[in-house]
Parts: sequence; structure tokens; C-alpha cells
Amino acid sequence: MYCPFCNADDTKVIDSRLVADGHQVRRRRECLACHERFTTFEAAELVMPRIIKRDGSREPFNEDKLRSGLLRSLEKRPVATEQIEQLINKIKSQLRATGEREVASNLLGNLIMDELVKVDKVAYVRFASVYRSFKDIREFGEEIARLGEQ
Ligand SMILES: [Zn+2]
Repeated sequence: MYCPFCNADDTKVIDSRLVADGHQVRRRRECLACHERFTTFEAAELVMPRIIKRDGSREPFNEDKLRSGLLRSLEKRPVATEQIEQLINKIKSQLRATGEREVASNLLGNLIMDELVKVDKVAYVRFASVYRSFKDIREFGEEIARLGEQ
């Protein structure tokens, strides 16, 4: 990177170490032209992709909305809060792993359902029934039957 003092593009790293519990790398650099020293921090980009809604509008990923949707589906189910937080982290890391700046809301919905079904089948059916808005009770029954077969 360019030296912030003289704009020369030749700098060398003289020290490098992990900081912030290993989530950042701190580097001391020295400019080879003017010999000034400066520090840079490097961290993984943890920006969540934006969500493309069905009508084509975009909205920022909303963790609170995800949490309240999950909590609604998991109401009175024997699932620990800690497990719900792990579920949220898993969904978030999969979203980030897409490497996309924006993803369709149904991709997010499928991610949630894929993870939720592993945690609690009743919660999954509740979530899916709202999310997919099953057209009738027959379709709903078919989904439950499909789960039973697994
Ligand atoms: Zn310089």
C-alpha cells in the first residue's frame, strides 16, 4: 500500500501480529522512501449481503428479524437459547459464504429452513407454513408426511 506520508508505493512490513482474539492482523510498516512508520489493521470483511425481496426491492439483512422469526417458530419448543444463537450464527456465516453483495430472499428462506429442520421439526413446519404460505391443508399434510419419511 502507499505510504500515507509521501505516497511512495514501496513499503515493507517490519512486524506482524494477531490482535483482537485473532480476528485482526496488525502490521507495522516502514516506507522505503521516507522511512516513516505506520500501522495497518487487516480484518475479514463481515458485511452481510443485502436481501432482494420478492418485489425486487432491497433491504439490509436484519438479524433481529431473523431472530424473532425463529423465536416465533420455536415458541414452547425444547430448544435452548444458546442453540438458537448458534443457529443464527450458522445462517449468517452461510449467507456471508455466498460471497454475494445481495441474495434473493428465498435463498435466505431456504437456508433458514435447511438449518431449522435439523434443530426442531415442529418449528420447521411452523416456519415453512408461514414462509411458503401453504395453499391448503393438503399441501401442509404432504410436507409433514415428507418429514416423517426422513
Ligand atoms: Zn514515505
